[in-house]
Amino acid sequence: MSADTTSTPRAAGRPTRTQDHGQWALGSREPLNPNERFKQEDDGLNVRARIEEVYAREGFASIAPQDLRGRMRWWGLYTQRKPGIDGGRTAVLEPHELDDEYFMLRVRLDGGRLTVAQTRAVAEVSRRFARSTADITDRQNIQLHWVRIEDVPEIWRALEGAGLSTTEACGDTPRVVLGSPVAGVAADEIIDGTPAIDAITERYVGDPAFSNLPRKFKTAISGNPHLDVVHEINDVSFVGVVHPEHGPGFDVWVGGGLSTSAHVAQRLGAWVPLAEVPEVWAGVIGIFRDYGYRRLRNRARLKYLVADWGAQRFRDVLETEYLHRPLLDGPAPAPAEGRRDHLGVHRQKDGRFYVGVSPTVGRISGEVLDRVADLVEAAGSDRVRLTVEQKLLVLDVAADRVDALVAGLAGLGLHADPSEFRRGTIACTGIEYCKLAIVETKARAARTVAALEAALPTFEHPLTINVNGCPNSCARIQTADIGLKGQIVTDDEGRQVEGFQVHLGGTLGGQASFGRKLRGHKVVGDELPAYVERLARAFEAGREADETFA
Ligand code: SF4
Repeated sequence: MSADTTSTPRAAGRPTRTQDHGQWALGSREPLNPNERFKQEDDGLNVRARIEEVYAREGFASIAPQDLRGRMRWWGLYTQRKPGIDGGRTAVLEPHELDDEYFMLRVRLDGGRLTVAQTRAVAEVSRRFARSTADITDRQNIQLHWVRIEDVPEIWRALEGAGLSTTEACGDTPRVVLGSPVAGVAADEIIDGTPAIDAITERYVGDPAFSNLPRKFKTAISGNPHLDVVHEINDVSFVGVVHPEHGPGFDVWVGGGLSTSAHVAQRLGAWVPLAEVPEVWAGVIGIFRDYGYRRLRNRARLKYLVADWGAQRFRDVLETEYLHRPLLDGPAPAPAEGRRDHLGVHRQKDGRFYVGVSPTVGRISGEVLDRVADLVEAAGSDRVRLTVEQKLLVLDVAADRVDALVAGLAGLGLHADPSEFRRGTIACTGIEYCKLAIVETKARAARTVAALEAALPTFEHPLTINVNGCPNSCARIQTADIGLKGQIVTDDEGRQVEGFQVHLGGTLGGQASFGRKLRGHKVVGDELPAYVERLARAFEAGREADETFA
């Protein structure tokens, strides 16, 4: 009997088995992997009730596995790595073998914004419930560690009472919205994106319409000409530009991302006025939800869909299926000039000043946060900002209070005029707490900064050093002058030890290009300071005027 290929026609547009990437818009609603299954069975947002009513009362052992390693992320909770497991065993152990009974809790700070009262609230939670940990991330969040499940409801009450949130700080959700830390105050600002950040978070964070995405969804909005929110590597970015007829608004970028497969975001060539940013944002995330690939986790980011479709098709679908209107064409942003980290003392457009200071690799503490809050209040300000460079700003300082604030912050180790090494180095969480890590990062990066300051006290060229504990690139390996990817390497005596693959020459800011992995450039962890010193000396000796490291 010959096969009848016409007797069971597929529904129009329905994917064949080999085409089926799990795209909802093409009719693929059957979960194709365990993550899709648990998300379909119960929305991650629903885990909060179980945490409040069951897990916090009955303890860690009562937590259902799919909540522990899945849905708790929807509320900013990840289990920490069990101490004492070296990086060589990360890939060979089962996930539950790496789980500690303590959690990392991520506090989302959309736009990187904190008031004095909020700074104190985080400080108090840190001191009471998180062994005084507090890390500023390169996505403007604060991460706390050593959190017990029993304390989580009380922590939420303290944070939410201050107007802070952990909702969708992790998980397959709309993550924190990056914003210019000097939005509304920078003298050279093109447009203030703050109203759009507020509208997006108020309308859509915690909205079940967007709580089951293929994977995480990262947003950046900035109208600052220094391009200060790494817009090239977000899923969607709105970048301030001036339209020749319509004035200030935003240029739309989609499909950027790093991890193990780096993609620079693509411009849609569309100009969007401030009031329409939330609607366009909802359209872009809607495309991701409906058309994003859900079969394979490592193909489930928006960047893969954008790479396959191209910018023009993406814009067509956005306009026809989601906005039901065309967008206006618009200009590209000008390349950024100068530095984007906002360190130092700068005059605001209202005549007051903002002060940017540098913690070392983003690491502070509950006590330091408390002291920062006191100093900010004494300076007459109520606004603290965090940056994508793991730095901290204080806005709205009167001229006659700047010196006292700068001196006070310096007393906490937060310098407005740090060395280039302290200024340019960021580090991810690493093996201290992260279950995916292969190597230690924060302490090693801090030691490297101190050693370089001692060895090269007069070095004065911008140099970015991004230290990552594994290939996932949370601290942006590919975008740094010196990008370090944690892995196990072989030392001179043939031993397997912690080290890094080196990427050189990455840059962002309008002329984005990713650093290149150089064959043979692997460095043993303990030799990192000496390696960077050699590179820095060679650069200083051989550079021509105005030549950057990249
Ligand atoms: Fe963890 Fe790797 Fe991300 Fe660092 S880069 S925080 S080690 S997943």
